[in-house]
Amino acid sequence: MTSKQAAANTPSPISIAAKGYAVDSESTPFKLFNFERRMPAADDVVIRIHYCGICHSDIHQVYNEWHSSKYPMVPGHEITGVVEQVGSSVKGFRVGDHAGVGCMVDSCRKCATCKKDIEQVCGDLCLTYNSTELDKVTPTYGGYSNLITVKEHFVCKIPKNLPLDAAAPLLCAGITTYSPLRRYKVDKHTQLGIVGLGGLGHIGVKLGAAMGAHVTVISTSESKRDDAMKLGAKVFIVSKDDEQMKTVANSLDLIIDTVSAPHDVGPLLNLLKFEGVYCVVGAPTKPLEVGAFTLLMKRPTITGSGIGGMKETQEMLDFCGKHNITCDIEKIDATPETIKAAYDRTVKADVKYRFVLDILNAFK
Ligand code: NAP
Ligand code: ZN
Ligand code: ZN
Repeated sequence: MTSKQAAANTPSPISIAAKGYAVDSESTPFKLFNFERRMPAADDVVIRIHYCGICHSDIHQVYNEWHSSKYPMVPGHEITGVVEQVGSSVKGFRVGDHAGVGCMVDSCRKCATCKKDIEQVCGDLCLTYNSTELDKVTPTYGGYSNLITVKEHFVCKIPKNLPLDAAAPLLCAGITTYSPLRRYKVDKHTQLGIVGLGGLGHIGVKLGAAMGAHVTVISTSESKRDDAMKLGAKVFIVSKDDEQMKTVANSLDLIIDTVSAPHDVGPLLNLLKFEGVYCVVGAPTKPLEVGAFTLLMKRPTITGSGIGGMKETQEMLDFCGKHNITCDIEKIDATPETIKAAYDRTVKADVKYRFVLDILNAFK
């Protein structure tokens, strides 16, 4: 038998062996996890993951703080890497391209919101991890892993001038702040407040400043004052200091609240102008409490925003490419121990300003 005949007789593999880090429960440590990714269908792209950011949502989900966790869980939805294979009908990507994957890997693509490029609210949304594929059975596993197979529609192009490590958090933190900044038409006339200078907050400051806004950071950490100014803020106030809070009272058009833990929004709403907009993007575990008189007298619009659609995510990446915007990161080795240490520091608001896992080197 010739080698060609032998190859023809060998059944083609139905899956690709992958490895990553998973947790088996909310109280067990990360461990090495071997699993399968699907072989690319015609419309699939296979990406060799180089970097993955650690979003606070990973922490909420690993520890089951939102009471919806499924295990084993491989977290990670701030993924950048290099295209390794493409399916036969893929038009937008070639082997070797820089690619990114965020919080979504599929949706129905037929419903009213999918048709309006707002896939993130589709009733059949498939999240990158802690979710299933459209069959509602096959679990999805995220970016703390070496390879991922994703429908082309849910893969983004990373502009060539952006390094893959510092661009990774744009895939969640970037789009989550960009989307409301665009929705509320932020420009040079906007007095913008960003609450919480963490992963989302720091990129929100950069994006808001690049759109021309006058940015005020409202933080619990006095130690972040200088950083906030370097990131593009014009004003920095500490939320626990009533005197500092008074200096900004009634002045902001739009506040983006990125805080990950339960907190009092009353004093923050006081910073808004009459009929200003308070947009929650942080996802603490307890409901917000708002006093009736604040609503009566301030007439704020209190709203929220979840990531962004695929078209808008690409628009955000192109905006970042044009303005040379990336995240300030602490790049770390990816091991079960380093991930745990990064989680502990993130919970203490002690990260400048996003941990990014060096996935490529971990799984060489
Ligand atoms: P992060 O890096 O941990 O930043 C959160 C920041 O909130 C901290 O750096 C800290 O900033 C502030 N903070 C923490 N505890 C606080 C407290 N008790 N009171 C007041 N402020 C506090 O988190 P992240 O990755 O930016 O994510 C932030 C939140 O957004 C998380 O809940 C995450 O799940 C959620 N999220 C939502 C979306 C969405 O689609 N809407 C997407 C991604 C993430 P200071 O030190 O400046 O006070
Ligand atoms: Zn996220
Ligand atoms: Zn849909």
